[in-house]
Amino acid sequence: MSVKQNLSEIEKTLAAHVPDNDQASLPNVIAVTKYVTIERAQEAYDAGLRHFGENRLEGFLEKKAALPDDVTMHFIGSLQSRKVKDVINEVDYLHALDRKSLAKEINKRAEHEIKCFVQVNVSGEASKHGVALEEVQSFIEMLEAYEHIRVVGLMTMAPYTDDTAYLKSIFKQLKHKRDEIQALNLSHAPCTELSMGMSNDYAIATEEGATFVRIGTRLVGKEE
Ligand SMILES: *Cc1c(COP(=O)(O)O)cnc(C)c1O
Repeated sequence: MSVKQNLSEIEKTLAAHVPDNDQASLPNVIAVTKYVTIERAQEAYDAGLRHFGENRLEGFLEKKAALPDDVTMHFIGSLQSRKVKDVINEVDYLHALDRKSLAKEINKRAEHEIKCFVQVNVSGEASKHGVALEEVQSFIEMLEAYEHIRVVGLMTMAPYTDDTAYLKSIFKQLKHKRDEIQALNLSHAPCTELSMGMSNDYAIATEEGATFVRIGTRLVGKEE
């Protein structure tokens, strides 16, 4: 399938699931290109996509160099502290801020304010990265010490399952936490955004108020 065809299906799904049928508040689609070539990423650009996501340093730098300048680049994977200096100033949004040591390193290396999502491990699965739900507020309050970090929102990766009710509960909990943090009116953490939903669960995430969905397989495919 062409990216254009896939995107058109995805856009229909988003439109059908957006809360209160409010078509003005559709989530932004991040094309996750980690499994595909530069050519396929360019096809996504030509289909009209402008948000791109990569989870590894090499892929990120390669796609950023190849794509036109008007793209917004999202680093969506966990970032090792020692690699921060090689990438942080190229990043428009970092989706996986999950520990103090990473915040410290970002703050040291960033030459401007970096828009970050705090990654939250809502499900509590041991295999998942992220701050536990109960610790999100204290973690974000601590980040005030780092002048180059701006917390734009919360991000989660839901478990891979077709249990819709369970996925809904995960996304609801993230939204609830986002609302709580937003209500604190912290100047370093406006926390207006919700990065949630992937190929398997983006319709449900949209229903629960996602502002960014991160879609790879369903949108650009997966090349082994
Ligand atoms: C790979 C990845 C995605 C996209 O996954 P698909 O299931 O292919 O849509 C989204 N978010 C993160 C953090 C990822 O690593």
